[in-house]
Amino acid sequence: MAEWSPSSWTSKPIKQDVTYEDPAAVESALTKLRALPPLVTPHEIVDLKKRLRNVALGKAFVLQGGDCAELFDYCNQDMIEAKVKLLLQMSLILIWGANKPVVRIARIAGQFAKPRSSPNETVNGVTMPSFRGDNINGFAATAESRKPDPSRLVSAYFHSAATLNFLRASLSSGIADLRTPLDWELGHVITPSIKQKYEKIVNSVTDALRFMHTVGLDQDRGVQTAEIFTSHEGLSLEYEQSFTRLLRHPPDALPAPTQSQEKTLRRGSSAAIPKGYYDTSAHFLWIGDRTRQVDGAHVEFFRGLSNPIGIKIGPSMANEELVELLNTVNPTKEIGKVILISRYGAEKISQFLPGHIAAVQAAGHLPVWQCDPMHGNTQSTPYGVKTRHFTNILSELKQALEIHRAAGSFLGGMHLELTGEAVTECVGGAAGLTEEGLSERYETFCDPRLNEKQALELAFLVAGFYRD
Ligand code: PEP
Ligand code: MN
Repeated sequence: MAEWSPSSWTSKPIKQDVTYEDPAAVESALTKLRALPPLVTPHEIVDLKKRLRNVALGKAFVLQGGDCAELFDYCNQDMIEAKVKLLLQMSLILIWGANKPVVRIARIAGQFAKPRSSPNETVNGVTMPSFRGDNINGFAATAESRKPDPSRLVSAYFHSAATLNFLRASLSSGIADLRTPLDWELGHVITPSIKQKYEKIVNSVTDALRFMHTVGLDQDRGVQTAEIFTSHEGLSLEYEQSFTRLLRHPPDALPAPTQSQEKTLRRGSSAAIPKGYYDTSAHFLWIGDRTRQVDGAHVEFFRGLSNPIGIKIGPSMANEELVELLNTVNPTKEIGKVILISRYGAEKISQFLPGHIAAVQAAGHLPVWQCDPMHGNTQSTPYGVKTRHFTNILSELKQALEIHRAAGSFLGGMHLELTGEAVTECVGGAAGLTEEGLSERYETFCDPRLNEKQALELAFLVAGFYRD
C-alpha cells in the first residue's frame, strides 16, 4: 500500500468537502490549530483501545451517545451535567443487565461537523447552502451566515476544550460518585406494571451500590469516578489533520522491546521508543456512512491513525467492500481496533447484518459490533417533521442482539443520539409522546434525539433483553 502521511488524504477524491472563499484565512486557522495543545493523550486513547478489545471479545459493553449535532451553545454547565448524568445512569442499568463492565463514550466536545444529503436547502422559499455544523457555518437561515467561515474551526477547538475541561473537572470532583443517591425520575411512566418493573431494576442497582459501600468496596476509585471518553465524526479532515501528531506510544501499549531497543533505552536515548500518529482531537473518531469509500480521502486519513476508529455501515455496504475496508484500516487485524457501527433500520437489519457478520468472520477480523438504531429509522410525520419511533429503535436493537447470538458473535454496544434535556423529538416511550406532541420542544439542529426519559427507558429495556 502507498505511503501514508497525515496529509496523504489530500490526493484522494473527497466527499462532503467544504469550499472556503479565502484560502489564506483557512491556512491561518490551521496554523493556529497546529500550535495548540492536544485535547487528549495517547495514554488515554490506548486505554480506550484496550477496553474496546474486551468489548470485541464479549467481555464488556460499549455505550456511546450524545447529540447528532453539538452546537457551541451546548457548551454550558447544565447541559453537560445532564448528559453526563444520563450516560452514567444508563451505564449502571446496563452493567446490571448485561453483567459486564460498560465503556462510556460520549458524542461530545467536538461533534460539530455534519454530513448533509444535499449541499443546498430551501428555507421559507429561499435556497441557500445547508447548515454543515457549527464548526463550518451558522444555522441562521441567511446566505451570509451559511457561508463557510474558517475561524469557526478555531472556535470548535476552544468549545471542545471548554466542554472537555468541565467534563474532566466534574468527573474528578465526584459528579459520578455512585455513593450519592441518584434521582431516577420515574414519575412519567404511565403504565403501573412498567413502572413497577423499572423500580425493581433501580432498587437492585441501588442495593448493590449500598452493599459495596457497607463492605468498603467503594473505596476503590472506580466507584467514586467514572471514565467518559470523547468522540465525534472525523468529517472535517483539515481540522483532524491539525491534531494528528507523531507521539510516543504509551509504554504499556507496546510489545516488549527488542534487545537492541533495550540497549538504546538503557543508554538513555528516547529514539528507540516507537511513535505513532494519534488524532488528539478526541479519543475515538468514526467515518460516516457518506464518506466511507475505500479509495476516498476519509478512509485514507483514518488508516494511518493509532486511535480506535468507527465505521458506519448500512444497507448500501456490500460484503466484499466491508472486508476490503477492514483490511485497509486494520491490516494487522488488531482486535477491537475498529467499531463497526451498523445502522440498517428495523425493517432491513435482518436482511443485511447476517451477511456482514459472516463476511467479517470469514476474513478473520474481530471488530466491535455496535448497533446504531437511530439512523436507519428516521422518518417524516405527515406534518413533515423528522422523527424516529421508539418501537423501531428498540426493535433494531433487539434484532441485533438476536442476530449476533445466532451468528456466534457479540453485540458489543449501542450508539444513540440522545440529550439530557426534556425535548420532544422521537415518538413513543413510557410517557406516550405522539407525533402531535413533537412540536412542544423540538430543538434539534439535525437528527431527532431520545430525551432523557426515553434514553433511560431504552437502557432498562435493553438490560431486560439480557436478564429475561
Ligand atoms: C450521525 O451519526 O449523526 C450520522 C450522520 O450518521 P450516518 O453517517 O450513519 O448517517
Ligand atoms: Mn445523526
